[in-house]
Amino acid sequence: MKIIASLSVIDPDEVRKGQELNIGLPDAEEQSIDIPRSVAYIPLINSHDHLVGNWVPRAGDQRPYANSHIWVEDMKNSFSFQERSKFWLNDGSFDLLDPAALTVARLGAYKNLFSGCGTVHDHAPLQKDEYYDAMPIIVPRLYRQGHSITMGNWWGGDTPEQEMEQSNGTMPFVIHLGEGTDEITKGEFARLKEHGMLKDNTLLIHGIAFTPPEIAEIAKVGASLCWCPSSNYYLLGKTLDIAAVLEHKANVVIGTDSTMSGGVNLIAEFATIREHYPQIPASELYRMVTQNAVKALRLHKRYGALDPENTQNLLLIDQIEKDPFENLMELEMKGIQLLLVDGLPRYGDSWLLDLFPDADAEYTIFRTGNREKFVIGDPLEINDQIDAALGYHKDFPFLPF
Ligand SMILES: [Zn+2]
Repeated sequence: MKIIASLSVIDPDEVRKGQELNIGLPDAEEQSIDIPRSVAYIPLINSHDHLVGNWVPRAGDQRPYANSHIWVEDMKNSFSFQERSKFWLNDGSFDLLDPAALTVARLGAYKNLFSGCGTVHDHAPLQKDEYYDAMPIIVPRLYRQGHSITMGNWWGGDTPEQEMEQSNGTMPFVIHLGEGTDEITKGEFARLKEHGMLKDNTLLIHGIAFTPPEIAEIAKVGASLCWCPSSNYYLLGKTLDIAAVLEHKANVVIGTDSTMSGGVNLIAEFATIREHYPQIPASELYRMVTQNAVKALRLHKRYGALDPENTQNLLLIDQIEKDPFENLMELEMKGIQLLLVDGLPRYGDSWLLDLFPDADAEYTIFRTGNREKFVIGDPLEINDQIDAALGYHKDFPFLPF
């Protein structure tokens, strides 16, 4: 079966009108379904989140912080941390297969699903396969990580140096770096290099403290940078020197961080960027959350561009704006018509689920605005479990119900 969106964004440099997209369902009649006022994209990629950290409101009473290491300690006193502890107490072991931890992590994955992400990178010590298998979208498991150069792997895993070794040059090595405005964070880039951890598979998160020459060096090595402006402005009042990043053509991706410090979701991240950097074209932001992320996270190239011949991955949304990239900036949770990841529908308008009679998954139906939606699994049940533990209703702004 084929569907035809009004516009199909093949990649940041190519948009087609009236393109048939083969969503790969057996269909003897070779049927094509026209979906008016819709735009097709490849699902988005959020390159930085901490899935268990998706609680609200944001934490941090002593802002702005000179560096995030102070916040990591201070946030333990926050309302959010303490409220979440009534549901899941983080005993420091970071065993996220603990049932309550897994439930919170799945909630965080749904945050990403409802904002059009087919993939989210979860920065945490590496978990067992069952953790990644339990998620409603792709959470890559082929990575190695360090929390930061200053704090090391306080949250588990081997030392950052050992993890870099284990990355074998083939997996991304993810580490927070330069997340601050003080001397400590300004010195972190040099320390990273001294420890042999600046390589082409390195993904540096934040980089607020980086100077233009350091950014040039990152570009030269072929490493990647993850920009998380909402979290940065909130905690530190400053963000990455994105002008230098674009000038030096470093590979840059976008991350939300968790809602303990970041904005509501990736859609909110776009809004923050547009507010502060209206001069960056929307098509460049699309590149950051698709092709650039595929490179940084070493994902298969099928996650970086729409494939009309075999459309296993698709984000179909309402058309509000003429320009498809500007249109993406206007995305709303309820405006997602279909999120298809690896051939399996994950979220969208109920009538579109009917096109997939053989979809091998459990779905939940709910209403948002005047639309009936389906979603894979049961995030309403997650919210109910949390409500039961707290004894009152907890509202998460990244859930559309
Ligand atoms: Zn982070």
